[in-house]
Amino acid sequence: MTTYFNDYPTELQDELRRIANAIVAPGKGILAADESTATCGKRFADIGVENNEENRRAYRELLFTTEDALSTNISGVILFHETVYQKTADGTPFIDVLKKKGIIPGIKVDSGVVDLMASEGECTTQGLDNLAQRCAQYKKDGCDFAKWRCVLKIGKNTPSYQAILENANVLARYASICQSQRIVPIVEPEILPDGDHDLDRCQKVSEVVLAAVYKALSDHHVFLEGTLLKPNMVTAGMQYKGTRPTPEQIAVATVTALRRTVPGAVPGVTFLSGGQSEEEASVNLSAINNVPKRPWALTFSYGRALQASVLRAWGGKKENVKAAQDELLKRARANALACQGKYVAGSIPSYAANASLFVKAHAY
Ligand code: 13P
Repeated sequence: MTTYFNDYPTELQDELRRIANAIVAPGKGILAADESTATCGKRFADIGVENNEENRRAYRELLFTTEDALSTNISGVILFHETVYQKTADGTPFIDVLKKKGIIPGIKVDSGVVDLMASEGECTTQGLDNLAQRCAQYKKDGCDFAKWRCVLKIGKNTPSYQAILENANVLARYASICQSQRIVPIVEPEILPDGDHDLDRCQKVSEVVLAAVYKALSDHHVFLEGTLLKPNMVTAGMQYKGTRPTPEQIAVATVTALRRTVPGAVPGVTFLSGGQSEEEASVNLSAINNVPKRPWALTFSYGRALQASVLRAWGGKKENVKAAQDELLKRARANALACQGKYVAGSIPSYAANASLFVKAHAY
């Protein structure tokens, strides 16, 4: 085995480091608005809105034209391909709207999950073909970071060695391709919350999966200072029959798993909300930021936990746009406090703060 490899050019390292650090600047996190067309359909069905291109555009316009104060708490937005090329009603490209606010546009570049043959319902994620060319184009069109979601499942025999190795490797290939095109990769190995497992089992699985991911990133010479990690928080399974762990127990299990596996060179961890209610996602993130010894920024990259109240307040009606934008500002502020360990439970009430956002075998 040769241990020789070329370092990334200094300017490339500097650019990647600068983008990653800006995303996880203190008190800031990411709005994940990269729902695929099908997932948008599910969100819209809940509020009785038809899933067509104009409604998706109008909804994203609502999010991105929220008053400039949004950028106090939101550093980046993850977009879906269609959204990158959409405009506001007055003809301003969404990318320009975001950049003018000082918000960094990002792009989901995976093309979804497929089954792993002969596994117990496990999967890998597709989308490596032409990824370098697609990244080059997205960079030209204004995106500075990307997301790729892999999914692992906790069961009696899962995640299997096959799934752990395959997903770690595909994440590493994706990350190195992004970096070659000056795009910061968000590495997302999501362990689904489905299952009756306890907190301890989720912690052990998280440690094994993350260790494999960082071994693969090392094997592919990924420049860690120019990456971000997007993991699940360590929680008990949604169908766990015992006493639900407290936010403090979730926080200790999560930070312990990260400390054992994620190198200090990684600038930040941006958690997914994974079916937690808006309030749970804020309370748990705040507890996480009160656990001592954290070499990385620990912040949010929430989809459901930033948008549930917004969607319900909007309901597809023009006259509700302002009220819906206010809900986004509130959840963004709650999570900005949480990523500094300062969110007080219940202190920022919102429309759907406690609604369950769990979706069985969630797809994005
Ligand atoms: P949730 O916060 O809704 O889990 O989703 C975030 C995300 O981007 C998952 O890929």
